[in-house]
Amino acid sequence: MDTTAVRHYLHQHPELSDQEFHTTAYLQKQLEQLGYRIVTPAALHTGVIAEIGPTTGPTIGLRSDIDALPITEHTGLAYASENPGVMHACGHDFHMASLLGAAATLAEQADQLPGTVRVIFQPAEETHVGAQEVVDAGGIEGLDAIIGFHEKPDLGVATVGLREGGLMAAVDQFKVTLTGIGTHAAMPQLGRDPIVGLAATVSALQTIVSRNVDPQQTAVLSVTHIEGGATWNVIPPAAWFEGTVRTFSHATRQTVKDHFYAVVKAQAAAFGLEATIDWLEGPDVVDNDPVLTKIVRAESEKFLTVVSPTPSNAGEDFAYFSHRVPSVFAFFGTHGTSDWHHDDLRLDDAALPSASQWYVRIALRLLTYFAKEVPHGQETH
Ligand SMILES: [Zn+2]
Ligand SMILES: [Zn+2]
Repeated sequence: MDTTAVRHYLHQHPELSDQEFHTTAYLQKQLEQLGYRIVTPAALHTGVIAEIGPTTGPTIGLRSDIDALPITEHTGLAYASENPGVMHACGHDFHMASLLGAAATLAEQADQLPGTVRVIFQPAEETHVGAQEVVDAGGIEGLDAIIGFHEKPDLGVATVGLREGGLMAAVDQFKVTLTGIGTHAAMPQLGRDPIVGLAATVSALQTIVSRNVDPQQTAVLSVTHIEGGATWNVIPPAAWFEGTVRTFSHATRQTVKDHFYAVVKAQAAAFGLEATIDWLEGPDVVDNDPVLTKIVRAESEKFLTVVSPTPSNAGEDFAYFSHRVPSVFAFFGTHGTSDWHHDDLRLDDAALPSASQWYVRIALRLLTYFAKEVPHGQETH
């Protein structure tokens, strides 16, 4: 399969999260032509799940996400997005092309597979709901393991990043509204100013990471958006801010949340304001199974450069799989020109063959492992 042509086509036709109808139809047609059984649950509106191999023996899932971002592309590429304001700026076109290439190679040896390979083309990763949609629809039932990767522009071609345990951060999202009493800017004593209270609260929140989180752990708390007031001579009745927290362990995640609530409530009380906190839990940390990661590393080292990557504070909804099925999520080098979510991100197509090969070799290796080698009573489940 010409995976470069596949990637260019998909790059040219990006679609937003949960609206990947054209992408879904394209992928399904390709998989049908390759002889795959389409097993997409009816509850899944976009995305494709398909299987190949005997229905006996172990089942290994290979995952690619399929959605694009609301970004206007500025790459100057001949195959730039034809969908205005939408761009594959996170490399999910690369993921799809690699997995489709792998699917083609696996189809050629369908008769000899010691188990089933299930390819999962998952919708809506960017909005962090797609993996959960797949789980809810029953798309990962019966899997012995699931494998995935995210392309990594700062790693070279034919380089894979692997690490046991946490690879990508748990994501929390917050919005805080502080309500006071509006008044004339010249007579603050007649009101309760939410702007000063907000400024103090935002500053105080920055002490959580430095004063409450274990220095051996990592955490990020960023306030990214604040709004309040409409003009220069009126103190508004309310103001709000929002942002995100990124952590790598359950304990740190809980510590940050607990202190966040305490700081906001105490600050609001100090300024006579009422605080409303909306806390939205995103994906958990992407947690690699230590036994499977060792096996994947040993196989990868046979044909790729394997590096130990720094964990990323970005989130990845593959976490919804990794907390239900033993899994390995990797970073795969694409020698890009910038980074994820940049409007000028260009990836190197030379990275495609080894990425396809990785999916194939890891699938075969894990099928053999689960069919013949997994110690009885010591399954990783
Ligand atoms: Zn992304
Ligand atoms: Zn992505």
